[in-house]
Amino acid sequence: MLLPIAIPHALTYYVPEELVKEVRFGQRVEVPFGRNKLYSAVVVAVTNEKPDAVKIRPIISVIDTDPIITEKQAKLWEWIADYYVCTQGEVLQAALPANLKLTSETVLVLSPLFDEDFNDLTDKEFMITEALTIQNEISIDNIRKILDQKTVYPIVNGLIEKRIVYLKSEIKEKYKPKKIGCVRLAETYVKYPERLNEAFDLLSRSNRQIEALMAYIVLAKDQPYVQKTDVYKKASVDSTVLKAIEKKGIFELYEREISRLGTYEDDVQDMFTLDEQQTRALTELTELYKEKNTVLLHGVTGSGKTRVYIELIQAAIERGEQVLYLLPEVALTAQIISRLQKVFGDKIATYHHKLNDHERVEVWNAVRAGQEVVLGPRSAMFLPYQNLKWVIIDEEHDSSYKQNDPAPRYHGRDAAIYMAHLYGAKTLLGTATPALETYYNAKKGKYGLVRMPYRYGDIAMPEISIADVKREKEQRKLQSHFTTQLIDTMTETLARGEQIILFQNRRGYAPALRCQSCGWSQECNHCDVTLTYHKFKHNLQCHYCGFQAPLTKACPNCGDLDLRLQGFGTEKIEDELKIYLPDAKIARMDYDTVRSKNAHSKLIKDFEEKRIDILVGTQMVTKGLDFENVSLVGIISADQLLQFPDFRASERGFQLMTQVAGRAGRKKKQGTVLIQALNASHPVLREVIDNDYREFYNREIMERNSFKFPPFARLIKITLKHKKADVLNHGAKIFGEYLKNALGKRVQGPAVPHVGRIRNYYILDFQIKLEMNLNTVAAAKRVIRESIVKLSKEAGYTTVRVNVDVDPV
Ligand SMILES: [Zn+2]
Ligand SMILES: [Zn+2]
Repeated sequence: MLLPIAIPHALTYYVPEELVKEVRFGQRVEVPFGRNKLYSAVVVAVTNEKPDAVKIRPIISVIDTDPIITEKQAKLWEWIADYYVCTQGEVLQAALPANLKLTSETVLVLSPLFDEDFNDLTDKEFMITEALTIQNEISIDNIRKILDQKTVYPIVNGLIEKRIVYLKSEIKEKYKPKKIGCVRLAETYVKYPERLNEAFDLLSRSNRQIEALMAYIVLAKDQPYVQKTDVYKKASVDSTVLKAIEKKGIFELYEREISRLGTYEDDVQDMFTLDEQQTRALTELTELYKEKNTVLLHGVTGSGKTRVYIELIQAAIERGEQVLYLLPEVALTAQIISRLQKVFGDKIATYHHKLNDHERVEVWNAVRAGQEVVLGPRSAMFLPYQNLKWVIIDEEHDSSYKQNDPAPRYHGRDAAIYMAHLYGAKTLLGTATPALETYYNAKKGKYGLVRMPYRYGDIAMPEISIADVKREKEQRKLQSHFTTQLIDTMTETLARGEQIILFQNRRGYAPALRCQSCGWSQECNHCDVTLTYHKFKHNLQCHYCGFQAPLTKACPNCGDLDLRLQGFGTEKIEDELKIYLPDAKIARMDYDTVRSKNAHSKLIKDFEEKRIDILVGTQMVTKGLDFENVSLVGIISADQLLQFPDFRASERGFQLMTQVAGRAGRKKKQGTVLIQALNASHPVLREVIDNDYREFYNREIMERNSFKFPPFARLIKITLKHKKADVLNHGAKIFGEYLKNALGKRVQGPAVPHVGRIRNYYILDFQIKLEMNLNTVAAAKRVIRESIVKLSKEAGYTTVRVNVDVDPV
């Protein structure tokens, strides 16, 4: 039995005599846990063996008649828990939609659209619903008291499925119901409207019925359909009145389906023809898949990889195979989604965190029933596929595939490759800038490799050049953060009526406020970071916990008044740009400006429709966006990208700059990219300019090899946290000894990370570097699990939090 909580193992319960025939793999059952808590748990095995545990408790009831998960899903979850050193309960928690995991504490509320139609309810459903019309919310625990019985989950589940009750956690979100109750005239009255007079005669004995009919007629005048609730409101009647009219053959009550899986009224877009390169890529892919399960499609930005995916998907649909199409982040790839939806219509469903709980269950059920294509971020891999044969992992290099918090800290790409293996499916990894590990696997022959080195339609790759910040500084040509070269190029671009993207990897105005005489700088009260100045709000903000503080005039340390803002973020770039290019329409795309709903798509639309000349943004501007009229991309500071204290800094820098550069000049003509750099001779810059991934790879892979970093070693990062520094320090010392006793010099740490305190928790890190040997890695993971258990039993350290991150990115 798996419970959606972080206990280390699956639990065993006994099946009472009367349930023996009902309990099967994959169903949810109601089980007790702890003193008096009940959970809905998922059956992952039914066995005749009795475990040695002291006391096994009984299953209380069976919630589902059919299994809600498949055996392959259970296997995938087990693998994730094992590989990423977490519990299966944590995986279940991430994998199951909220509506499928109820606990005693789950709070229910009435659907705001419930029309007080109690007629179709069973007695017990009626009791719950009635209680909910009086009290606003009720926990499942209290429902147990109301019904005075232990078994309530099947009843609650029935009410959720009927959409009469919702989980409270969800109702806070804006949700849309799937079905709405509607009313219309019976057919004879539609055909012969003159008979409506007879209808009024039929109703003459009841004023309320007449009012309801009149209300309907008024409402129907300017609405394509009339909802029952609207008639209730307008005529002050309830469902019994409508039912009575229905009995007399005048009304028809019916339910209107509002599909959440997407309705696409647009005509399916004509697909443009494949060019020679795409045709060749498809042929090569087909050949390679005869031998390989995984193929890397390395195609430059603008080469038209999506078009190749579409061909594969279409062929798969024709063969009746399911396809999973993974993207790093759904929110940032709106353009790809709408493009695919235009081609595949309702054959494609999206699955992501922005759906409400009901919608998620709908997609879940659709996939189980054979939904052809599912598009989504990493969580889409948790759905109950039946006949999955293709996994497409788009932008496979993107670090957003990795879940950082909470556990399971899994990598969507890597877990999906394992998943494909489970299902006997083929995997396609697509990117313009492969992850080093991926390319390494392709070079070694583990993966197939298909290249698309040219842009679609023979458009030239952008011309990339460096703006030497150091030289301009010496020549006194630098204008604040902009080189004269960049300003001049921007001016020319705007004069031609073309658009510009400027990339700066930091948001906010300035990342530090520093005293010029003593060096003091304003830090967060809860984290060890300097606060970033946000001009719009005129305050200082912590980018880790959200803490805000007013701007101080004098240094609290020495009293000096010479406080200066240092560094620069997107807000400052946007601000200063207005000085140099006063006539340009400038907008900003970063976490701060897209937080509100639809702000992101509005920005994209405004830019697309040329209401914006220059878009200043963070990484967000690099992802999945495809603008026809952008001919210049400027990167404000390459140095910031390349100076990160991380072995992946060069890889990240190469990927980011190449992806940003790829936004220039996509559809019509060659674009220009200008990279500002202090250290203009950094090797990665040369490789970006030459668009030479192989050169970059060859240099980088040698460095990784000589310092034994991935793919030549496996890294596991372990983070310990506690609110008290001394508890943490001692705890980490003890924990470090456990690890080092078993793993020796493979263990480094404890060390204070880049940010040593976040949200009042002090942090210490261990890094474990392991040889690429399955046994060593498995043994190390065992040691880690054991050490965590040991520390949790050590008096005084039970509250130290330990997070394990396998293959950190
Ligand atoms: Zn000072
Ligand atoms: Zn903070």
